[in-house]
Amino acid sequence: MRVLISIDMEGIAGVVDAEDVTPGTVEYERHRLQMTDEASAAVRGVLAASPGAAVLVTEAHGPFRNLVHDRLDRRAELVRGKPKPEGMMAGVADGVDSVVFLGYHAKAGSARSVLAHTVNSRVIADVRCDGRSLGELGLNTALAAHHGAVPVLVTGDDSVAREAAEVAPGMHALVVKRSLGSRAAAVLHPSEVCDRIEAAVPAALADRDRVRPLQFVGPVTLEVDVLQPGMAERALLVPGMELVADRTLTYRAECFPAAYGLVQLVAALGAL
Ligand SMILES: [Zn+2]
Repeated sequence: MRVLISIDMEGIAGVVDAEDVTPGTVEYERHRLQMTDEASAAVRGVLAASPGAAVLVTEAHGPFRNLVHDRLDRRAELVRGKPKPEGMMAGVADGVDSVVFLGYHAKAGSARSVLAHTVNSRVIADVRCDGRSLGELGLNTALAAHHGAVPVLVTGDDSVAREAAEVAPGMHALVVKRSLGSRAAAVLHPSEVCDRIEAAVPAALADRDRVRPLQFVGPVTLEVDVLQPGMAERALLVPGMELVADRTLTYRAECFPAAYGLVQLVAALGAL
């Protein structure tokens, strides 16, 4: 068995503010330790369920260089740095059976949700595939499904747990904090969260066959709303990209992975 753990930061235990996830701050240094410990807890959970499984941990936040490597469970392989193919899901195309999402957050525009955003909070207001609004969890779930990998578990606040039920019915969700707003939550103790993750992973893997992830087959109509019209201008240099409203780009992608890549491209170009 091959398991991919994609780890973001906004949904890590105790994180409630942008400062907590921004490199260079004292708070970030504390929370990256917890992020590493949550990854290790998930690795232990995978190997308890399936000794001998190959576990790949893929960094999925900011610079993609957040985990403190010498603190991570040594049985996992770590993918870090950016840009990398498949971004937050690097490695998913290499025969992965199941995917665990740790530290995830709800999509841009979600109310009463800790640090909700989609890919880049300074550029993107919404992403739609064939008219369906998707955040990072939805996009990554659909990319996993495209490659035959089953998303089994997500951890984060209660708002991302609700999103999980929409994009992948049957996927388990572990709520590590109760969201009270965009920058406030009632949070569980960090050690308690690690214990719960370690227990949640085997349970989620056991229910793998019940998950019905969102999947896009064939060409996909991608729409991306940016925050300011100027943020769309560079993306319009891509042949086939069109502007259909002041802040809405659209592109007819040949397949879902192409649409996925273009979301990353629009975010990167819009931030320049
Ligand atoms: Zn994220």
